[in-house]
Amino acid sequence: MKTFYLETFGCQMNAHDSEKVVGTLVGQGYEQVDEPAAAELVLYNTCSIRDKAEQKVFHRLQQFKREGGRGKVIGLLGCVAQQEGEKIFERAPFVNLVCGSASYNRFSELLVQIENGARRVTGLSLDTQDTFETPLTRRDNPNRAFLTIIEGCDKACSYCVVPFTRGPERSRTSQSVLREARELADMGYTEIQLLGQNVNSYRDPSAAGLNFAQLLNKVGQVPGIRRVRFTTSHPRDFTKDIIDAIDENPVLCNHVHLPVQSGSNSTLSRMQRLYTRDEYLRRIEWMKKSSRNIAITTDIIVGFPGETEAEFAETLALIDEVEYESMFSFKYSPRPNTAAVKMDDSLDETEKSRRLTIVQEKQRAIQIRRNAELIGSREEVMIEGFNKNTLQWIGRTSQHRTLNFTALEDASLKVGEYRHVLVTRSGPNSLVGELA
Ligand code: SF4
Repeated sequence: MKTFYLETFGCQMNAHDSEKVVGTLVGQGYEQVDEPAAAELVLYNTCSIRDKAEQKVFHRLQQFKREGGRGKVIGLLGCVAQQEGEKIFERAPFVNLVCGSASYNRFSELLVQIENGARRVTGLSLDTQDTFETPLTRRDNPNRAFLTIIEGCDKACSYCVVPFTRGPERSRTSQSVLREARELADMGYTEIQLLGQNVNSYRDPSAAGLNFAQLLNKVGQVPGIRRVRFTTSHPRDFTKDIIDAIDENPVLCNHVHLPVQSGSNSTLSRMQRLYTRDEYLRRIEWMKKSSRNIAITTDIIVGFPGETEAEFAETLALIDEVEYESMFSFKYSPRPNTAAVKMDDSLDETEKSRRLTIVQEKQRAIQIRRNAELIGSREEVMIEGFNKNTLQWIGRTSQHRTLNFTALEDASLKVGEYRHVLVTRSGPNSLVGELA
């Protein structure tokens, strides 16, 4: 039996791509193993969103340098593969396969070339209208299923590598998305997470011509599906009908991740984000007026080239104004091929770290206060696991909050079930409760 090892770095898109790559390999008679040492085929699905992520991959490859990859086929997939391309063979001559995500439909064929003796093969074209769909997908999460609806991105945010590593936007037909959603429900999944670099710009290429809000609603009507989530949204394409859909259909989770990146118009303009602070806040207002009490989360970049103290203060003021449920915050990291890499990145690491700490401390205080407001409330959770150390069940609310709770032994709870929990305590990142 041919064996393979696959390690995945980066975002949910990469995680789901890996699920499909594994499905392709298993379909071609390969068996997955847990250690690279035990595998004939060693694959890394890579991320290049920040320099650190990229360095991790080349560090992993070092272990094969000594043996020169003898007796193994070594492959790089994903964003670093696409970004660096054939240069990877110079930097790591023992690598045999380099394939970007826009070429995954050719992955089987590349494997056959390797099996037929080819020493180096590549899949690096971005010129495609295809989306990566496989007959077999090995899903890691038994309760929540990823479902990609759109790949690539047509935006050009000046700090972002995605357009260069994942190619132009291409949406799947609504028929193929809904067929997969029904198959997932038949497999017993109750929660679906729709994925895309920018799900809001979904445009159904079929005659049905659904937009994102219409597709979201249709997925939310698939029998057996109790929760539908989606990520990632872009404020420019985030339309009111998405909120209307969430208001009308309780299956659509009341959580929206809407990355703002900065609260300053001048920084947003240098970032080429295509919206202003006011246009962004208008979308926040739609959500705050919703009858579904929508949880709002975001991404923030600090230390973007040229970010003045005044611009940074505008970001802090926006955080105070929106009061996010949670946030991912990062220091600006220059990336190859992006417009920002040519900008004067004069803020030193110490200053970037100082600003990041201020943002994170401010957000932490907001989360402590907002989570405390939920003490005494009754929340429905999907049970995701059991923590043997704390003897607590791990639940997730529709708002995407973690709610750890206790239950009497005879409560006969199961992972994947939905139960109501009374919130008794709270912390900065999670809630604590007892089975209601
Ligand atoms: S919308 Fe901007 S940040 Fe998001 S993937 Fe596209 S280019 Fe990158």
